[in-house]
Amino acid sequence: MKQYILILFLLFSPSSLWAYNFLYINPTSREPIGWEPGTTIHYYVDPGPLGLLTNEQARALIRAAMDIWEDTSPYANVPHFQYEGLLAEDVNSSNYQDFVSRGTCFTSSISSCPSQAQRDIKTVIIFDNDGTILNRELCSLTGCGAYGDAQVFSGDVSNPGYIVSGTVVLGTFVASDLSTINNSLGTIVHELGHMLGLAHPALNQQFYSDPTKSTLIPTMELSSAPGIADFSGNNTSSLNPDDIDGMIQLYPSSTSSSHMGVISGEIFKSDGTPMMYANVIARNEDDPFCEAYSMLSGRICPLGSHSLTLNMSSCFDNMGGGIVESGKFNILVPPGTYTLEVEEITNQTLASVVAPGLVEPFLYGDAEFWNLEDSATEDSSVKSSISVTAGETKENINITLNRSSVIADRIKYISYTTTDSITTTHCQSNPTDYATVLGLSNSAPSAGGCSLIH
Ligand SMILES: [Zn+2]
Repeated sequence: MKQYILILFLLFSPSSLWAYNFLYINPTSREPIGWEPGTTIHYYVDPGPLGLLTNEQARALIRAAMDIWEDTSPYANVPHFQYEGLLAEDVNSSNYQDFVSRGTCFTSSISSCPSQAQRDIKTVIIFDNDGTILNRELCSLTGCGAYGDAQVFSGDVSNPGYIVSGTVVLGTFVASDLSTINNSLGTIVHELGHMLGLAHPALNQQFYSDPTKSTLIPTMELSSAPGIADFSGNNTSSLNPDDIDGMIQLYPSSTSSSHMGVISGEIFKSDGTPMMYANVIARNEDDPFCEAYSMLSGRICPLGSHSLTLNMSSCFDNMGGGIVESGKFNILVPPGTYTLEVEEITNQTLASVVAPGLVEPFLYGDAEFWNLEDSATEDSSVKSSISVTAGETKENINITLNRSSVIADRIKYISYTTTDSITTTHCQSNPTDYATVLGLSNSAPSAGGCSLIH
């Protein structure tokens, strides 16, 4: 994912409500940024092979990933993808700077964009067969196996409009073993999700080490986080409710607001000050682990200042504004009855993503549920139900944590036991065998070597 961008500025606003799971936020309107809803994304593809796949097979796999996003939800007006042809030259270590850049740029100053593809407002999908582009350029600090982002926005840096071009770069591990082609597909879906404007959520940390629960981990979750047992499994090629929720927010259809509800509120420390960077999760009581929606309280950063490995100081320090703490959240949910809980992001890879060196991503108290009498002193396991109807916003669902300091033995997240009902009605592995669909042979040897997926 995005590591550096050209220009970062603006500060936190206490009225900011938007989410953890959006990559780009308009610094003026505070709205998340995507492509124009329903637009057509015209894309070009590297003419080379991808690992064991021929170019034609790789393009078919990419198309399958695009179909998954296009079919997100009747309430999401997701852009359509249209293949426009092969790039004129194979993209490799000697010419990649013409096609991909770490720098985000804007149509108002298009001539100053770093890459030719940006200046041409051209969306490209690159096959990085020797890892040069990913490891030397796009993910030079951490290394990565694949990458996706937006490359150009309409408007200017202070008030950007839509994403108008993007890129996905795929390393060969994406197709190094045809027996796990569905995993490769999941990686492409993940990277296209970034290109569409989604960032990484942190949901169901309780199950990170349990491979039997991997279908409960959203496709957009950070795959490389240590301890996630089977993120890159087959489940990633099918979207989870949290993934779908993000797309509905970015690409609302004309009917989405009348079919969805909102739970909003704020997280406070026991002394009443805002708790920033707490992970807030709404769980549908009918299917609490699959139909769950997460958002980080108060987190909003300027355009392009996405999380992963980026120094988030750029979120606050420019313009001399400093940090404006906020504990607010605003979660879009389908109609239903929910519980709400607050927790810490325990995984250090994810936590460091949130605010390296800036604000401690620690919970000032124990993980707890929201309840009607919520205060700093009640038992953290006391919970109340929140019924949300279509078109309704439930406001002031506020949680006050039980401390205003961090102690070592804090309860970081609510544990669930094996006796808890864990239904996966909507969280299933993708049942399609894409090796068969794409006419691939499964007899090829594995080239091995999975790496970080950003
Ligand atoms: Zn990612």
